[in-house]
Amino acid sequence: MPFSRRVDVTRRRRTLLVLAAATALLAPQLPGAGASAAQAHASDQARIALSTTWSGQRFVAGERVRVTGAARPASAVRRVTLQRRTPGGWTKVAAVSPARARYSLPLPTGWYGEFTYRVVASGRAGAGRTVSATRRIQVVPAYDPRGSAGAHRLAAEPVARWEPCRVIGYRLNTSQAGPGARKDIRGALHRVYQATGLRFVYRGTTGIIPQDFINTYPDDTDLVFAWARPSQSPLLTMNGGRPMGVGGAAWAFGFRNADGSAASRIDSGYVVLDATQQDRLRAGFGRGVTRGELLMHEIGHAIGLQHVDDRRQLMYPLMQRGRARWGAGDLAGLAKVGANRGCLS
Ligand SMILES: [Zn+2]
Repeated sequence: MPFSRRVDVTRRRRTLLVLAAATALLAPQLPGAGASAAQAHASDQARIALSTTWSGQRFVAGERVRVTGAARPASAVRRVTLQRRTPGGWTKVAAVSPARARYSLPLPTGWYGEFTYRVVASGRAGAGRTVSATRRIQVVPAYDPRGSAGAHRLAAEPVARWEPCRVIGYRLNTSQAGPGARKDIRGALHRVYQATGLRFVYRGTTGIIPQDFINTYPDDTDLVFAWARPSQSPLLTMNGGRPMGVGGAAWAFGFRNADGSAASRIDSGYVVLDATQQDRLRAGFGRGVTRGELLMHEIGHAIGLQHVDDRRQLMYPLMQRGRARWGAGDLAGLAKVGANRGCLS
């Protein structure tokens, strides 16, 4: 069975970081909102009567879901807010200023995981606010992930993650890429977003071909995708092999996850694909050896995952012929480097 060789291992490089610099990175959250909400609930419930209807508890990612209800009397209600519990407190995800008592708010289903939500009705002057009971919501993939959750490996210990509370800017060097490459990159990044909550923003094209684990990019750019010949980047010939692509990241030590555990912060990443081998790949994410699968795998390295020996996972080092879908182990690893662990500090 001729499995194509794929990629190389993520390499680490350390950039030293002064700890004091890290304190500037504070989470855009609502400290203390939980405590004051509970008090308001006790004293002001009589003023605004809040009802909330959750249409379910388990949703497929991307499903359109709304939280509905009523806050009465409408004249006393200034705003109805949907909040999600995060490691740093309650974070607003949607809000509306209803003209009538009925309200309707979009419930995010963008990425997988278990989330706790609540609705808060805040009143006009003197009316206080009323808080709903909390609600657990599960967002799941549209398919059954294969394998076991244990089949994943992080690239670093302590965990190296991108800062999930800001966007990741990326640029493309597709001058040697085949047709449809940009579409597949968007598709792969969307699948990464679904598994992590990490948000990627396109910053334009670039002539850069990453040469090393650490790269110097424009200020708005954190991640570069490039198609190159092996002679154009040492990354493509590093271990004497001939991988179809490589992906990796550089990170700095000295950060903390929201739960206080140690972490490193990924500051730049790269994905370089061998332009001379791209005719071996099908476009898209369907069956066969696809560019979509290769991109997902390499982005996996660029956001902090390492290879596993379970071939049902996309982080297996050799290309497979099934659909390009994250396995259960991939998803568990991606969750560990994703937004659900909160901002870095
Ligand atoms: Zn790899």
